[in-house]
Amino acid sequence: MKRKRNKAENTIDKSYKCVLYPNKEQISLIEKTFGCCRYVYNRFLDERISAYRDNGITVSYSDQCRQLPVLKADPETAWLKEVDSTALQYSVRILQDSFDNFFRHPGKTGYPKFKSKRSHRQSYHSTCTNGNILVIDGKHIRLPKLGVVRCRIPMKVEGRILGAAVTRDDTGKYAVVLHCEVPMPAPLPDTGRSVGVDLGIRTLAVTSDGKEYCNNRTYAKNLKKLARAQKKLSRKTKGSHNREKQRIKVAKIHQKIHDQRLDAVHKMTHELVREYDVISIEDLDTREMIKCRFAKDISDASWREIRRQLTYKSEWAGRQLIVVDRWYPSSQTCSVCGHVSESVKDLSVRQWTCPECGSLHDRDVNAARNILREGLRKAG
Ligand SMILES: [Zn+2]
Repeated sequence: MKRKRNKAENTIDKSYKCVLYPNKEQISLIEKTFGCCRYVYNRFLDERISAYRDNGITVSYSDQCRQLPVLKADPETAWLKEVDSTALQYSVRILQDSFDNFFRHPGKTGYPKFKSKRSHRQSYHSTCTNGNILVIDGKHIRLPKLGVVRCRIPMKVEGRILGAAVTRDDTGKYAVVLHCEVPMPAPLPDTGRSVGVDLGIRTLAVTSDGKEYCNNRTYAKNLKKLARAQKKLSRKTKGSHNREKQRIKVAKIHQKIHDQRLDAVHKMTHELVREYDVISIEDLDTREMIKCRFAKDISDASWREIRRQLTYKSEWAGRQLIVVDRWYPSSQTCSVCGHVSESVKDLSVRQWTCPECGSLHDRDVNAARNILREGLRKAG
């Protein structure tokens, strides 16, 4: 596709998230940019819908890109000129992407929706041209139209900056995600070791070597706190000032839980990639599992995120990640003799003895060993 950037060889894309502390004028311009991008997106979505409905015409991405300068010249929509023009272009691209996704995954992805002003989360994306996005030092960043914005950059930003997404989250805080192109890191030295990983419900994961990765210690406490805060929120009158205050409280706890989980997952995937040449995991489709009664715990364990991280981290480190078919009965098969024991299906069975060979198994470690064996078999 033409719109896609030609990725330079031996490079990877890396993102850095930095908290922004914009001043009053900058906040007003950021909010204006959110509004303009939403306007462009919604206007063009509406145009596509009516052109197809009324005349059977499909409006293309390039048709709509050409309209942007026309809109800016029109006195009625001349205010679009006040914000970063690359952000407006990007909105047209996002609209095209949502149509592409809709047609590529029929049934799975819904028809593109209008963006709401009332949504607490807002964002826009600036493309870097002629160095207009620049990290000045650890506390300052230059962004298109906004100028120098105070911020907190958690680590050294490397490589070529491609673009920046400015966001506002549920709690009303601003951040910027810098998208960079960095040189491919050198592969890690071989360790000669392989591992199977059983993604858990109680824990994050258990490995075939018997190592257990847990959630953060205060994680469970925060979950309880969240439940209490949410209950309180449901009792507040809609539209009231107190409700808004409570909503932000809930959003803050959500954010904390999310950060803790992400932190634990990063530590785990980093360690796995460092320690093992071959990593075997089970293919678990979260979307289907979510219907069962463990829904909350499963989504909390963020299997999808674990897999995503393992995928890119193994690629960067030159490791092999193998995904084993999810219908493989990993927890019911004895990892010593291969006997399949139906009684282990019950999730409350934590330990069991194989009736065939008499081996005593920890449920999760046994599953991880089977995932490893199946992975190595699949890899040949
Ligand atoms: Zn056995």
